[in-house]
Amino acid sequence: MNELVLKGVPAAPGIAIGSAYIVDKQDVIVPPRAILEKEIPIEIARFEEALLKTREQISALKRKITDEIGSQHAQIFDAHLLVLEDRMLIEDVIKKIRQDKQSAEYVFSSVFKKYVKVFADIQDEYLRERSSDVNDIARRVLKNLVDESKHAHELENLKEELIIIAHDLSPSDTASMFNRNVLAFATDIGGRTSHTAIMAKSLGLPAVVGLKDATLRISNQDTVIVDGRMGLVIIHPSEKTLSLYRAEKDRIVLLRNRFDDIKDLPAETSDGRKLQVLANLELPEEIPAILTRGATGIGLYRTEYFYMNRVDLPDEEEQFVAYKKVVQDMAPHPVTIRTLDLGGDKFISSLQIPRDMYPFLGWRALKFCLERPDIFKTQLRAILRASHFGKIRLMFPMVSGPAEFRTVNSFLGQVKNNLRDEKIAFDHNMEVGVMIEVPSAAMTTDILAKEAKFFSIGTNDLIQYTLAIDRVNEQTAAFYEPCHPAVLRLIQRTIEAGHKENIKVGLCGEMCSEPVYALLLLGLGLDEFSMSPGNILQIKKVIRSVSYKDAQALAQKALTLTTGQEVEELCSRRLQELAPKIFTDDGTS
Ligand code: PEP
Ligand code: MG
Repeated sequence: MNELVLKGVPAAPGIAIGSAYIVDKQDVIVPPRAILEKEIPIEIARFEEALLKTREQISALKRKITDEIGSQHAQIFDAHLLVLEDRMLIEDVIKKIRQDKQSAEYVFSSVFKKYVKVFADIQDEYLRERSSDVNDIARRVLKNLVDESKHAHELENLKEELIIIAHDLSPSDTASMFNRNVLAFATDIGGRTSHTAIMAKSLGLPAVVGLKDATLRISNQDTVIVDGRMGLVIIHPSEKTLSLYRAEKDRIVLLRNRFDDIKDLPAETSDGRKLQVLANLELPEEIPAILTRGATGIGLYRTEYFYMNRVDLPDEEEQFVAYKKVVQDMAPHPVTIRTLDLGGDKFISSLQIPRDMYPFLGWRALKFCLERPDIFKTQLRAILRASHFGKIRLMFPMVSGPAEFRTVNSFLGQVKNNLRDEKIAFDHNMEVGVMIEVPSAAMTTDILAKEAKFFSIGTNDLIQYTLAIDRVNEQTAAFYEPCHPAVLRLIQRTIEAGHKENIKVGLCGEMCSEPVYALLLLGLGLDEFSMSPGNILQIKKVIRSVSYKDAQALAQKALTLTTGQEVEELCSRRLQELAPKIFTDDGTS
């Protein structure tokens, strides 16, 4: 078979060679889920969106079959498309969503069951056989409607080492790959800073996302190469390609330890500016790897992963024990715990929350927490109690500005008062910081800096909200520009506002783990860099290789440029000149 190369979005570096395993759940089980009156339009829109998506998928399949084996074999898909356009069926579902106030998937699956039965009972043999086609469509529509995170158990039971190929994987699916027999993964959809990609990095799994139609082109057991650095997936590689990639894989293993010698040295520029290089933490199991990389603390603990892949919500005691352990394992270094940031591309199965039409602009993070004080309060109590056992810094995600920060702080105040009344120990001086990841927060940092103890810039979100680029959308991945002048100005503004009030400003988005951007951020005056453990030593090397003065001059020049591309080119050139060792294999040049 001929070698075929698919190009996607590089999500996590590394190379894997192995056998493909297509994650494609066959049965979609749909329990009833009652909805509120106000959710009816959302459910109807979700249903219509799922029909549209299914139509697109079937049309793509039809095109592929026509190209590969001829149009007569593709005719079956015309029948599928007709079913999807059946007005009676569509109207029946919409009417019942309104009447019964049940979720779109539940109503659709019950209406469809009747539909399938009509076909199955038909006398004509040909038509009767069409019931399996109808079933097939129903499954596709349901899959597009239902949270697909239900592959989790499938992934947990893998016996052989395999490369996972999926249309999409939720961040919780990816989390469930920890220590399983997964070599790498590749998905049809997704962008570079989707939480699925971030999770792959922290698990050290090579990953490519946004491949568009990998699941259509790859079959189970095909030999595939996943090249996470270049964003390529190679199907049926030739012997020549295989041997090239095997050699490259060995080279990467050697490179992994190339900056080990600076692990215990400070992140200090050649002219004496001391920075902190911290780690982002998703799963506590990552701590040993974090410590071996010489991180001087956790700059972002994404606590929402604690809530995923389980059927219940974690109670206060369970959370307290987990946070306390992280703090003790990291001592004497600080641990920055971010409160629950659910929504966007992160969902948990224990909460039956209807999906928003625009999840990143919907019920996310603090907006969710403030409406669910029961969940929020439990988490804050657990964090506060753990703060008695080490240095915790608390930060709130997606703060929109001063008013919201005050609201959430007064909520925290109430929780502290309760603990005081109950005589439960906690760190009364625990620092509380704000994540700057919404333009409205960045524009009000002069006010926020007077009330917060530190800032942490979340560029993954700040870029998506500033440039109107959905971070999980493969179509917009190429427009994701960390060096866009608007983004740079917001970062600069945040750092200046923080420094004016003498508070530290960190950055915990993917941006600071790229050497070229790290140099620029250093020059803009950033104090703390927080990233996936795998990037820590390289970024420390950048910092140790340059002077703050040179980095500042670069940043000043960058701020005068008019496009992101110009800034990128300038910074790449300058990094080559100032820190050529970053680019050599053994780091010694
Ligand atoms: C960010 O938005 O940059 C960030 C660090 O938070 P998350 O990626 O978890 O949204
Ligand atoms: Mg964020």
